[in-house]
Amino acid sequence: MADEFTTTVYRDEDADSSYIESETVAVLGYGSQGHAHALNLHESGVDVIVGLRENSSSWDEAEDAGLRVETPDVAAAEADVVKMLVPDTVQPAVYEAIEDGLDAGDTLQFAHGFNIHYGQIRPPEDVDVTMVAPKSPGHLVRRTYERGEGVPGLIAVYQDATGDAKERSLAYAQAIGCTRAGVVETTFQEEVETDLFGEQAVLCGGVTELMKMGYETLVDAGYSPEMAYFECMNEMKLIVDLIYEGGLMGMWNSVSDTAEYGGLTRGEYVVDEEYAREGMEQVLDEVQDGEFAREWISENQTNRPSYKQLRAAEEDHEIEDVGGRLRDLFAWEAQEDADEKEQVQ
Ligand code: NAD
Ligand code: MG
Ligand code: MG
Ligand code: MG
Ligand code: MG
Repeated sequence: MADEFTTTVYRDEDADSSYIESETVAVLGYGSQGHAHALNLHESGVDVIVGLRENSSSWDEAEDAGLRVETPDVAAAEADVVKMLVPDTVQPAVYEAIEDGLDAGDTLQFAHGFNIHYGQIRPPEDVDVTMVAPKSPGHLVRRTYERGEGVPGLIAVYQDATGDAKERSLAYAQAIGCTRAGVVETTFQEEVETDLFGEQAVLCGGVTELMKMGYETLVDAGYSPEMAYFECMNEMKLIVDLIYEGGLMGMWNSVSDTAEYGGLTRGEYVVDEEYAREGMEQVLDEVQDGEFAREWISENQTNRPSYKQLRAAEEDHEIEDVGGRLRDLFAWEAQEDADEKEQVQ
């Protein structure tokens, strides 16, 4: 089975828990990923300290869950493994506060490679620098672990000071449940560049532009905003769910033959081969040569002027008004989701 993958995929039998058993892990941050990693590690028998700001609203929550909480500098000084799970944009500042707690042979570990790859954090040479990143939001990392399962994850070694960086990463991945599903080996560079490209060109950037333009085209042609919203935005979820479950063919098999023929013949009118590829290559170039990273880092250093302006414009788009009103008609759905969550917990 594993032979059919193009890259190495590690499973439970490839991990050796002795690499983490005697270690103390400082989990910095208690948000989406932080709470899941801390609780899963703790239940796997690993000694965990959560690192939070003194005024953090999560402090009591983590303590109530049976975890020890300290400020990041104290947690890191005591730990052998420091896991950075604060937002990527605040990691450089948090790193400055914990840097002195990194002793020779410790591990500095990430769940996303941005700050290492673009040089915003420069760890000393005598520590392991690794990545263990679940390919899933934190609540699923936690929920699957509780069921005895796990979500797939990534591991990468940026700096192997101890000679055991990979084994230690795999042991961590096992302790949070990821090796139960499968852990794919990658590099910091590949993880960062594919992540940024995917979210910009396809997932967040590409998809929103496509939906807004579809909506505007229908409304400009005189159709009602409500119909335009349903056809160009609301139904996106149905299609994406089908693709998530069964791939492109699963989706094509589920929609009508008319939708399939129309989609297969007309899609490329819109996502034009030559134009779209050129745009995508430009996105990738700016990710690879660091231009995007420089722009975003400088935004963050200057109180985010463009970000705020773009966000305000998006908020003002008519599709948000119409969508907000129509989504209220689906209020029962939110209740069902809440009921379902209740059942799983
Ligand atoms: P989050 O925003 O959900 O949580 C961040 C946590 O950090 C919060 O508990 C917050 O209170 C705390 N925090 C913020 N500023 C702090 C500071 N100055 N000092 C100490 N604590 C501070 O973040 P997240 O989504 O869990 O992301 C954490 C990391 O995981 C990021 O590197 C992200 O790229 C990566 N990641 C996230 C996901 C995901 O689905 N959320 C998936 C894979 C990887
Ligand atoms: Mg230490
Ligand atoms: Mg991503
Ligand atoms: Mg990302
Ligand atoms: Mg239709």
